[in-house]
Amino acid sequence: MLGKIHSFESLGTVDGPGVRFVVFFQGCVLRCKYCHNPDTWAFNIGAKYTAEDIIKRLLRNKEFYETGGITATGGEPMCQIDFLTELFSLAKKNKIHTCLDTSGIMFDKVNRDKIDALLEVCDLVMLDIKHIDEGEHIKLTGMSNKAVLDFARYLNEKQRKMRIRYVLVPTITDKEDDLTELGKFLKDFTNIEKIEVLPYHTLGKVKYENLGIKYPLENIPEATSDMAKKALELIKANM
Ligand code: SF4
Repeated sequence: MLGKIHSFESLGTVDGPGVRFVVFFQGCVLRCKYCHNPDTWAFNIGAKYTAEDIIKRLLRNKEFYETGGITATGGEPMCQIDFLTELFSLAKKNKIHTCLDTSGIMFDKVNRDKIDALLEVCDLVMLDIKHIDEGEHIKLTGMSNKAVLDFARYLNEKQRKMRIRYVLVPTITDKEDDLTELGKFLKDFTNIEKIEVLPYHTLGKVKYENLGIKYPLENIPEATSDMAKKALELIKANM
């Protein structure tokens, strides 16, 4: 089987525990306004690789990944769930820790057996909750958050380790009421390993210019790490 891949990062330190071999999958169904990888959106481009090709690349420097492993991100890796499962299965056969960075948006669009097969070979899910309010989620990403929240509940039901990631965007995802609601939503989960609030930055802006796409958050300022810290405190205070 072949997977469509955008790119690789061989020494990733922000996409899961330890040092990681990061695989950026090509293709995404969302259009998050703050996305810093718009070049991963299209499904009809990307280089094709087998799972063996990718694991061979990783194994060339296996010693780097002893404290980490492999992370699938994108794009949306679950849009290529069969390939993703094959890749993670092969990683597990080689005793490599597997981490999936996902929006969870494909949860209601993929056969549940396929989800279960993926979770069997996935050590950690980093779930990006873009917005807790459904209407605001639609405005921010183009789609409802129902599948995302259902996926979070399902991961808890199955007791699969989960990290929550949330991007703090001034005037869009930083309202106290929404952060409070997010905390309340996460309150009863027993599978959460960590919650990360990431400050919105504009580093992806140049990619929009290169692709000839109008930057959607033109007048929105970046968030500071202090703002992100305070937002995290508010979320946790409601858990
Ligand atoms: S889910 Fe990720 S890759 Fe897709 S649009 Fe949103 S931020 Fe970009």
